[in-house]
Amino acid sequence: MFTTRFAPSPTGPLHLGHAYSAMLAHDMAQAAGGAFLLRIEDIDRSRARPAWEAQIYDDLHWLGLTWPLPVLRQSDRHAAYDAALDDLWARGLLYPCTCTRQDIAAATSAPQEGAPLLGPDGLVYPGTCRDASRSGARPADVALRLDMRKAINGIGNLWFDEAALPAHRGRVRISAGDLVSKVGDVVLARRDMGTSYHLSVVLDDAAQGVSDVVRGADLFEATQIHIVLQRLLGLPTPAYHHHRLIRDAAGKRLAKRDDARAIATFRAEGASPAQIRAMVGL
Ligand code: GLU
Ligand code: ZN
Repeated sequence: MFTTRFAPSPTGPLHLGHAYSAMLAHDMAQAAGGAFLLRIEDIDRSRARPAWEAQIYDDLHWLGLTWPLPVLRQSDRHAAYDAALDDLWARGLLYPCTCTRQDIAAATSAPQEGAPLLGPDGLVYPGTCRDASRSGARPADVALRLDMRKAINGIGNLWFDEAALPAHRGRVRISAGDLVSKVGDVVLARRDMGTSYHLSVVLDDAAQGVSDVVRGADLFEATQIHIVLQRLLGLPTPAYHHHRLIRDAAGKRLAKRDDARAIATFRAEGASPAQIRAMVGL
């Protein structure tokens, strides 16, 4: 069955871009006679707030969206994240990393390195800690990185089907060379979270039976990481619909801090759900 989801983080107000993503996914599920699920991505405990979560439910209901209960909350899913990390650790695919942001910036800006390369998660990790010990029990309270070279060794062809983004529509083949040089050893467990966006989203999409991921084009480059993780963990790969981003009048991407574009602000000003739909071109 066509199953999709909207997966906001309760770290700020929903803005027009979120509304577009949620309504598009909801419309697609309805058209397909499928399911639209909601997932609260609240692993970042330092930024997630119950009030933002309550506002998400309220705004989405106001927009006319419905979803089955209970809603999956990532903060309830740490047992699943830990089990996957234990598995990857036991296979020698993870290593502890103690680098700070500054360490990574300094290592990648050394003159012999050329221009620092930006990957889906920021600077491509220079591999400083790759030789750290991988034996014994999985360490806690430290970041764990995926050894990308080792992860993709013998993994076979990697690809996914992109259903929306015009420049990439069709089968997207993932290059092993790019995974090593342009993505690199991404963090799968952050020290402060015990997991990461990438690991959680892959495990949760599988746990929720998501057949079609509808999300913004800003996550297109991250998808290759998700495909690697699905393959490593024996999980199915959904189809992906990376949709256009809603921009403000100046053509700038909307961010959560742009409260002027918050759904709550439009509501307070008397806008109707139909007007919100029109604003985002639905
Ligand atoms: N929680 C992510 C966000 O709010 C979305 C994750 C996804 O759709 O894969 O940007
Ligand atoms: Zn490190």
